[in-house]
Amino acid sequence: MTAYTIRGARAAGGAPIELFVRDGLLVDEPVLGAELVEADGLLALPGLVDPHTHLREPGFESSETVASGTACAARGGFTAVFAMANTDPVTDSVARAEHVAELGRRANHAEVFPVGAITVGLAGEQLSPIAEMAAHGVRVFSDDGKCVMDSALMRQALHLAAQTGTVIAQHSQDHRLAGPDACADERSVAGALGLPGWPWAAESTIISRDVQLAELTGGRLHCQHITTAESVEVVRWAKSRGVQVTAEVTPHHLLLDSSHLVGLDTTFKVNPPLRGPDDIEALRAGLADGTIDVVGTDHAPHEAAAKQGAFPHAKPGMLGLEQALASVMETMVNTGRMGWADVVRVMSTAPAQIGRAASQGRPLRPGEPANLVLVDPVRRGVVDRDLSLSVSRNNPYHGKELPDPVEATMWRGRWTYRRG
Ligand SMILES: [Zn+2]
Repeated sequence: MTAYTIRGARAAGGAPIELFVRDGLLVDEPVLGAELVEADGLLALPGLVDPHTHLREPGFESSETVASGTACAARGGFTAVFAMANTDPVTDSVARAEHVAELGRRANHAEVFPVGAITVGLAGEQLSPIAEMAAHGVRVFSDDGKCVMDSALMRQALHLAAQTGTVIAQHSQDHRLAGPDACADERSVAGALGLPGWPWAAESTIISRDVQLAELTGGRLHCQHITTAESVEVVRWAKSRGVQVTAEVTPHHLLLDSSHLVGLDTTFKVNPPLRGPDDIEALRAGLADGTIDVVGTDHAPHEAAAKQGAFPHAKPGMLGLEQALASVMETMVNTGRMGWADVVRVMSTAPAQIGRAASQGRPLRPGEPANLVLVDPVRRGVVDRDLSLSVSRNNPYHGKELPDPVEATMWRGRWTYRRG
């Protein structure tokens, strides 16, 4: 039996909370012989849930493995991650989804929910066996990294989502408007830096189409990593019509603006690109007012070789799991725009609901799984990429002074991370 008493913490709402853990669950009274954990000055929050993680395994283990990625998750306060399908092979069958889930169980750092591909091989031509994967427990489908450009195929996918109680998560990018070379925000920096521009309209036109297809089919749509003011407006409009749509923002699009591209450091190359201050303000406002439902890290490890060479040729993507809460604190909590209960909503409850993860995003009360994170709300530190648990080092927060909140993470009553 493993048992803990966690004493002295406060809940998200500010009230004192004492937690008793036994055999993976929160229980209503102290357990004889339980280890006492002093948590004075800390917040006890439900374990965080990342709706958007790239674990890279199978196929790209030189960038990340399920074990290393979920270790990053635990250090970041996460007890569950949704693993994107753009591995090699692509997660486009029941067997491949079960393989990813099995790798997660073996690593045993966090719950791993495999995301199924919408189309076979992410090729955008033929639907993968969505109904069959759904019958075997896959709850989210995404071609992330690529956008489903074919409107008729997207309609079919959303129709299947409606029938199976699943959700279609779209990487919203018109691949003709923002082609393969697009790598810098067209509205703020691309021209001045001489880089191929990524126009804002390439995102919000796809979202406009997709919310209408969601309305047409009754299917649930999740808009991944939205980055522009126009996208926020379209989602707000769709919600006002009652469309079943949710939206996501990344920690890096909340904190980092496109001026980071001035030195052409490929660490800051990401897709969609870092945007200008007006877009960032719209994203923060959208997250605060609930138009944007969740924070998703888009944790995208790349080995050093993939980030070498000229900016337009480097792979897009940056690490995110370990500093996600820090970014949300810095931009939303420490600015007074959100309280801790809002953080719990956008980083735990809502992502769990979107992905139908029944054991995650639950309140900290007796009878619930002991999935939690202990947070120091005032501690700060300078980020050092060499202290990361990731295999990769493409950390855009390296050298920045930021909150350093995560003291400990517990998943199913077991510590998956403790500081020091
Ligand atoms: Zn994406």
